[in-house]
Amino acid sequence: MRNQSVLVSGASIAGPTLAYWLHRYGFDVTVVERAPRLRPGGQAIDFKGPTHRTVLERMGVWEEITRQRTGTTDLVFADESGRELAVMSGDFTGGDVEILRGDLARILYERTAGKCEYLFGDSIAGLSETADGVHVEFEHAPARTFDLVFGTDGIHSRVRRLAFGPERDYVHYLGYYYCIAGTAGLGHDPDEPPVRIRSTGYNAPGRLAVRGGFKAAQHYIFASPEIDIPRDDVHAQQRILADAFAGIGGPVPAMLAELPGLEDFYLDSLSQVRLDGHYTKGRFALVGDSGYGNTLGGFGTGLALVGAYVLAGELAVAGGDHTLAFARYDEIMRRYAKIAGNSNAGRFLAPRTARGIRMRNWFFRSRSFALMTKYADRAAKDIDLRDYPALVGAAV
Ligand SMILES: Cc1cc2nc3c(=O)[nH]c(=O)nc-3n(C[C@H](O)[C@H](O)[C@H](O)COP(=O)(O)OP(=O)(O)OC[C@H]3O[C@@H](n4cnc5c(N)ncnc54)[C@H](O)[C@@H]3O)c2cc1C
Repeated sequence: MRNQSVLVSGASIAGPTLAYWLHRYGFDVTVVERAPRLRPGGQAIDFKGPTHRTVLERMGVWEEITRQRTGTTDLVFADESGRELAVMSGDFTGGDVEILRGDLARILYERTAGKCEYLFGDSIAGLSETADGVHVEFEHAPARTFDLVFGTDGIHSRVRRLAFGPERDYVHYLGYYYCIAGTAGLGHDPDEPPVRIRSTGYNAPGRLAVRGGFKAAQHYIFASPEIDIPRDDVHAQQRILADAFAGIGGPVPAMLAELPGLEDFYLDSLSQVRLDGHYTKGRFALVGDSGYGNTLGGFGTGLALVGAYVLAGELAVAGGDHTLAFARYDEIMRRYAKIAGNSNAGRFLAPRTARGIRMRNWFFRSRSFALMTKYADRAAKDIDLRDYPALVGAAV
C-alpha cells in the first residue's frame, strides 16, 4: 500500500469517520484536534435515506445511533401572542434519525480511539509539500512528515487555508448569522422510543428566534452585513446578538434575558464553501464542511459521512495511489455535494420583509412544501455508492 501514513485534522464527524475507514483499510492514522478534548453537546444533526444508513451500517454504528437518537422537533411559527401561523415539520428538518452532534462524535471517536493516534489540544501550524510527503509543523507536538494530509476541520478549515488559499476565496457569506445557545432543552432516554416535540419560532423581518426542541435550548437567525466576529469573546458575541434583536417583541426579550445562564453559546455566519468540485490538491484533500459545507440546511452531516467513506474507499481501491483516488473522489463528490449548494436556509427561515414571512408561512401550508421534502429525500440518496469494504476485502 502506498501513502501509508496519513494526518487527519479535525475530530468531529468527517474526521473520525475518515479515520475509521482508513484504519480499516490498513493506513496508519493520526488525528489532530484543536479542542483539548472531544467537544460534547452542540446542535442535533440528522441522517436521511438509505445512503446514509448504508454507510452507518457498514461502520457498525447504526444501532447505537438509533439508540442515542433524540426525536423529532416540529418548528411552530407563532405570532406575538403565541398563535400558531405555520409549522415546519420535523420530517423535513430532522431526517430519519436525529442525534446530538456531540453524541455522534463520541460514538465515532470510540470506534477509532484505540486504533488511531489522537492529538487533542493541538493544531497544524505549517504545511510544506514535497515529492514524497508533507512536512507538518504543529503548534505543540514536534514536526513530522506524513504521506497525505486531510482537512476535516470544518467551514473555517486551516488545512484549506494553508494548502489551498485564504478563506475569502472559498467561503461565501450568505447574508445571515446564526446563534445556538444552551444544549438541547430536553434530555432523551435511549431506552424509550423517540418522541415528537414542538419548538416555537418567532419571526420579525430578517429575524428568527426559536425556543425549545431537540436542536438547542434557543437558536437565532438574523440578516446582517458581514461582521468581524470576536471569536474568543462570548460576551461581545452576545452583545452582537442582543443588538440584532433590539426592539423586537414577543418572546424575544425574555429569551435574551436567559442567555447568560445558558451553557454553550455559538455565533457564526451562514456561509457556503465553494471549491468548484476540486476538493483535492497535491497530497491534500478536504472532507465534510471544509470542502462542501453550507452551515444550515445543506445536509452537512450526511455529506461529511459519505465524503469520508468515498475518499477512504477510493484510496484503498487504488492501493493508496492518491492521484487516482483523489480524481475519483472529486468526481463523485462534485455531483453528490450539489445538494449542499441549493439552499440558503437564512432566507427561508428569516425572510427580510413582512410579506416574505407571510409567503413563507403560506408555503409551509401548501403542497409545494411536501414536494420539497420529497426532493430532499431523493437528493440525499443521489449517489452510486460503491461497496468499498467488499471490493477491498476489508475485515470488520
Ligand atoms: C446550527 C447548526 C445546525 C445544523 N443542523 C444540521 C442538521 O440538522 N443536519 C445536518 O446534517 N447538519 C447540520 N448542521 C451541519 C453539521 O453540523 C456539519 O455539516 C457537520 O458537523 C460537518 O462535520 P465536519 O466534521 O465536516 O465539521 P465540524 O463539525 O465543523 O468539525 C470540525 C472539527 O475540526 C476542529 N478544528 C477546527 N479547526 C481546527 C484546527 N485548526 N486544528 C484542528 N482541529 C480543528 C473543530 O474543533 C471540530 O472538532 C448544522 C450546523 C449548524 C451550525
